[in-house]
Amino acid sequence: MIPLTDVSLQVLSTNQALDQALDSDIDSEPASWQRIVNESIRDISALLNALALPDQSHYSNFPILVPTPYLARIERGNLNDPLLKQVMSSAKELDDIPGYVEEPLQESTFAKTTGLIQKYHGRVLLIVTGSCAINCRYCFRRHFPYQKFQPTSQDWQRIIDELISDTSINEVILSGGDPLMMSDKRLKWIIQQLETVPHIDTVRIHSRLPVVIPQRITKTLIETLVESRLKAVLVTHINHPQELDEAVSNAMLALQRADVLLLNQSVLLKDINNDAEVLSTLSRKLFKANILPYYLHALDPVAGAAHFDVPDKEAEAIMSILRASLPGYLVPKLVREVPGQPSKSPL
Ligand SMILES: *Cc1c(COP(=O)(O)O)cnc(C)c1O
Ligand code: SF4
Repeated sequence: MIPLTDVSLQVLSTNQALDQALDSDIDSEPASWQRIVNESIRDISALLNALALPDQSHYSNFPILVPTPYLARIERGNLNDPLLKQVMSSAKELDDIPGYVEEPLQESTFAKTTGLIQKYHGRVLLIVTGSCAINCRYCFRRHFPYQKFQPTSQDWQRIIDELISDTSINEVILSGGDPLMMSDKRLKWIIQQLETVPHIDTVRIHSRLPVVIPQRITKTLIETLVESRLKAVLVTHINHPQELDEAVSNAMLALQRADVLLLNQSVLLKDINNDAEVLSTLSRKLFKANILPYYLHALDPVAGAAHFDVPDKEAEAIMSILRASLPGYLVPKLVREVPGQPSKSPL
């Protein structure tokens, strides 16, 4: 690996002031997407007020976080809006439902070293940050102990050593949190580190940011991906056609021109997208935005999200309608993550 110089050590330190100082030597001020992140709604009353909805208050153990470009796609005055339901906390989150647990995927058991999780052959998942730009109520990592996983500068040497020693690994998946919450500078540093491992040829980014804040797709990010010898894959996370607007499509077009493979995963969510018509529209809209549907995930049984669950029988019925109405390449694979299995499990 490239020797960890003082600067690169600092880039990965958790010292925020330092990160901002480092970021500022490219941008001279925070990037516009970072300002948008800072201006997000973090309070239920503010959210309801912005949408002309009557106030209601309840306690939640997972804060709300809604960035304004996403807020703009929510219909005012509609409590049943499918985007609002993904971000608005509910008193139901505190219900204690048997089988719904804090860490449904037992990820701690699969950690090879801090931040590095391997469950499947040939690919590893790297948790690079615990931050997100939006708090999705159904998130399976809503209770995730990020502090235990987020690599520090010292951990990076171990991660790279681990990757070098295992020649069966050819793909690194950047995950979180949301990996695109990292600054362009930090992301570039990580990609450069991965490039030093000869058998790694692919970097995959799993992110909701290009959809919730399309301004995140900066020129610098595109340049980093174009300049890298690694093949880049972006897996977006879009659950409903209403999440796709022109700004998102433009961001995707820029990525596609940079030769980034664009795939989407959705989570099947009750009263949000458990409807063949909605999912079929989503597939067609994704295609128009140069994205192919990849996975449709059954909900992971995380505590606080039971009210989003869709029964398997219903999920299978939706899939038969999708198969009968869409070309094969627009039909996502319906999967569930079962701890200990060698891949996601088809339903
Ligand atoms: C989901 C997941 C992957 C990616 O699986 P694909 O089927 O290749 O998309 C890789 N590693 C871990 C730990 C995962 O949870
Ligand atoms: S962006 Fe992803 S990791 Fe973050 S809350 Fe949403 S689903 Fe969870």
